[in-house]
This record gives sequence, structure tokens and C-alpha cells, in this order.
Amino acid sequence: MNFWGDEQFSFFESILFQTLGRTVDVIETQFLSGGDINMAAQVFSSEGVFFVKWNHADSQTTLGAFNPFETEARGLNLLRRTDTLAIPEIMGCGQHQGKSYLILEFISSGKPNQLYWEMLGQSLAEMHSHTQPRFGLHFDNFIGSLPQTNTLTSSGFDFFFDQRLLPQAGMALYKGLLTKPYYEALFRLREQLPNLLPNERPALLHGDLWSGNVMVTEQGTPALIDPAVYYGFREAELAFSKLFGGFDQRFYDAYNEAFPLDRGFDERVGIYNLYPLLVHVNLFGSGYVSGVERILKRYL
Ligand code: ADP
Repeated sequence: MNFWGDEQFSFFESILFQTLGRTVDVIETQFLSGGDINMAAQVFSSEGVFFVKWNHADSQTTLGAFNPFETEARGLNLLRRTDTLAIPEIMGCGQHQGKSYLILEFISSGKPNQLYWEMLGQSLAEMHSHTQPRFGLHFDNFIGSLPQTNTLTSSGFDFFFDQRLLPQAGMALYKGLLTKPYYEALFRLREQLPNLLPNERPALLHGDLWSGNVMVTEQGTPALIDPAVYYGFREAELAFSKLFGGFDQRFYDAYNEAFPLDRGFDERVGIYNLYPLLVHVNLFGSGYVSGVERILKRYL
């Protein structure tokens, strides 16, 4: 986004005023890279250091009355309330000068301490023990920049198919990235889901748990950012974590000790990961199609 110098300072000062309700002097800003979608900065001010991310308001898809930052803030709050893993405090979100913004507590990065992976595994297991009667959530949100519907559903298999696989597969078919035979194979997989996946209770999930969304705090402990929260099958979260290289084995061991998984999880990983893979097909294109096809081949 092209604004800098005085204009940039006055933007940050205005949104901090909107958020905190008092005049704030911005002292310095540091732009941050690493996000896929938004602009981000560390903002040093007379009221402390903040993390700010922003985007053109008119470039954002909205769901009902909500934009991605509002649903992100609501998701972060849900995770924070479990008091399990560290989650940045939400200072506020809003709109100013045609831009949407989200202001969070700034997390200073450090190096993982000796028990980092064990802590991540145990605390995630604890977070997953938070449940509600149905799968989904009381609001829709986003996965990356794509809408993610969370219609409350009694069956986890129906939820996984209707709210996760089908919308993404439909989009991939529409974009000409997924062929009809593979799209149809999904429906044969649907019939098999109750035989393939354990029918567990809805678990509170981060929803986008890959290494880029886990930060190491100054104390060397884990903190989670950028969620796509919903109540779903907890194995879907662990499978997601394995998609791009995975986490240290100590994480999986600690998780399994705290909240044991059914046997044979490794064979189920591909089925759960059809969802993030289809999301990647829709966001980033054909490079991810072969990953989807490999998993669906046996249902052709
Ligand atoms: P996007 O929504 O564009 O994916 P992210 O939420 O992933 O953006 O943030 C971009 C980068 O900013 C992250 O990779 C991380 O390094 C850093 N970051 C995110 N949240 C915070 C925070 N609360 N404190 C400090 N740095 C953060």
C-alpha cells in the first residue's frame, strides 16, 4: 500500500486514537513481512508497542456485516478465553480512510525454550478439549482470503463434507482446476467417511495451524496468530500441521500423551488435508492439484 512518511504516521495515530480513545503519538514504525494477504507493521507509540495489519477495505470480501479482521478478532478472542495457548490481546479493529485494520498486542520473538514443543502439544490438546454440542461456529469466517462457512451441524462427517470439502471443490471445479471425475470421486469418499474417520466430539480448533501461524515469544514459549476458528474434528488440526513439513515429533508425542488419538491417524492425514489442499488450489492455482488428485485417486 502506497503511503509513507507523515501520512503513514497520521494513519496509525488516527486508528490508535479510534481504538484507545485518547491521543497517541507514533514514534516509529517497522514494516513486517510474512503475511500472505495484508500489510503489517510494528508500531512504537507513546502508549506502547502494537502490531497493526491493514488492507484496502474495498478489496476485502465481507461475510454479512463482517470483514476478515472482525472475524479474526472474534476467533482470537474465542481462543484466548480458553486460557490455554498464548494469543495476542485484541486492541481493536475498524475502518479509516478506506482501509480496514486490526490492532493487536505485539509479540516480541525469541528462540524456542527446551520445553517449547511439549508445551505446544499439551496446550493444544487442552484447547481441543473445549467442546460445544454441534460442529461449526455461531459466525462464518475466512480461511486465508476465502470465505469459510461454519453452519452449525450435528454430524461431523456432514460438516466436513458440506462446509469444508464441497465449497472448495466446487470453486476448484468452477475455476477449471479440478476435473469432473475427481469432483465426483469426492462424493464416493463422502459415503466412506464414517468408516474412515473417528466420530469424535466437536473440538475448538485454531483452523489454520501451520508453522507460519505459531510464533515463539521472548520467553521461548508458543503463541498462536491468524486463526480460522471453528469446532471440528481435532484430527483435522493435527493433519493440517503436517501439511508443510510438520512440527517437531515432540509436539505430536506430547499431544498424544495429553489427549490420545485413535490408532491409525497417519493413514487419515490425507483425507483431512484435502481441505487445506483444495484451499491452496483455489488461492494459489494448479500447483496443488496433484496433491488433491493423489488422495482422491482411490475413489475415482
Ligand atoms: P496475514 O493476515 O497477511 O497472513 P499475519 O497475521 O500472518 O498476516 O501476520 C504477518 C506476520 O506478522 C506474521 O508472519 C508474523 O511474523 C507477524 N505477526 C503477526 N501477528 C503478530 C503479533 N501479534 N505480534 C508480532 N508479530 C506478529
